[in-house]
Amino acid sequence: MPYTRPEFRLLPTASGYTEAFWTGGRDGHLLVYRCESCEQFFHPPGPICWRCRSRDVAPAPVSGRGRVATFTVNAQPWLPSLPPPYVVVLVELEEQPDVRIMSQLVDIDPAEVAIGMEVEVFFEHWSDEQRGDIWLPLFRPAGGVA
Ligand SMILES: [Zn+2]
Repeated sequence: MPYTRPEFRLLPTASGYTEAFWTGGRDGHLLVYRCESCEQFFHPPGPICWRCRSRDVAPAPVSGRGRVATFTVNAQPWLPSLPPPYVVVLVELEEQPDVRIMSQLVDIDPAEVAIGMEVEVFFEHWSDEQRGDIWLPLFRPAGGVA
């Protein structure tokens, strides 16, 4: 089932350490915090590397490719603009599988989703007066519609 952009989404607030993650899509980049000391990515973003306690951290682009670590198919109509079923996914990044991103997986029949399948990011641009511009990182099967 091809993905159709919903008319409405509840948007995050992009500020401080989360700003890069929610706005990197402006330039086509999924930005994840990386520690310059131990050279590891980590997510969610924050001021200190949880591995080595370094404060030498900054957002850095990743490929946006990864695999389905796990997922669930939502069957509840929580929002009129997001009719069920839809797939809530936890994606492990190609660069570093212990970095996992929660998102929505689209462009696939929920019955076809499998753990381990290859996915890729794309960005959905939203703009509202309260939150400004947000580029939501969403995922779809790698290589096009399944
Ligand atoms: Zn570190």
